[in-house]
Amino acid sequence: MTPSGRGTPPPAQHPPSLHELAPGLALARGGPGRTLNIYLLGTVVLDAGVRWSRRRLARQLAGRQLTAHMLTHAHFDHAGCSAWLCYTFDLPLWCGAGDTPAIESGRVDTHGTRWFNRLQRTLLPVTACPVSRALREGDVVAGFEVLEVPGHSPGALAFWRERDRVLVCGDVLANFGLHPRRPRLVLAPAALSSDAEQNQRSARRLAELRPRLACFGHGFAVTDPGRFAAAVDQLGLASS
Ligand SMILES: [Zn+2]
Repeated sequence: MTPSGRGTPPPAQHPPSLHELAPGLALARGGPGRTLNIYLLGTVVLDAGVRWSRRRLARQLAGRQLTAHMLTHAHFDHAGCSAWLCYTFDLPLWCGAGDTPAIESGRVDTHGTRWFNRLQRTLLPVTACPVSRALREGDVVAGFEVLEVPGHSPGALAFWRERDRVLVCGDVLANFGLHPRRPRLVLAPAALSSDAEQNQRSARRLAELRPRLACFGHGFAVTDPGRFAAAVDQLGLASS
């Protein structure tokens, strides 16, 4: 499979509206509720759920103007439909420079135990896909600045828009709270991260930004900068 122009996008009949979180930032869904979040930054699709997210994505993205697909990081629950998405919608794939080898080989190990990685490759394999652009710190995509936030994976990225303090932070943190005013933030599990201490430093960096809207790969967005910073503080992060 190649991502170069041979896909047939789904018909553009009555695409369901996406949830607009801020100007130029919309939420699609890769799973029920907010379990697997997929975002549109302008016309760029950020993340692509698990391989079972295909029908949901086809329905939500049909008929929309799309120009690229990019990843917060190279794990099976974010890149599961990436090759299909690029092929179907004829999109180039962008990801963090540190995750490019994983995406191009399809070996998106979770950095967990050997048996977990084997299970992932069996049940939720990720199709290899060529990367058109390796994103780095300071790049700008759809008005968002690229931040390198390694730790959950070597090439993990967050996206920050200073003018309205909007942050999309991938899996550095997840929010398992059911209400944005009562976030229950958790760090990415150490057992599924390439470097848990590095991920802690990345979390602290994001908290210092004091985002007015913080969006996650998993869970509801947090809309209170003080609560986001306080919740990260309460995680008891080791000092960098
Ligand atoms: Zn994830």
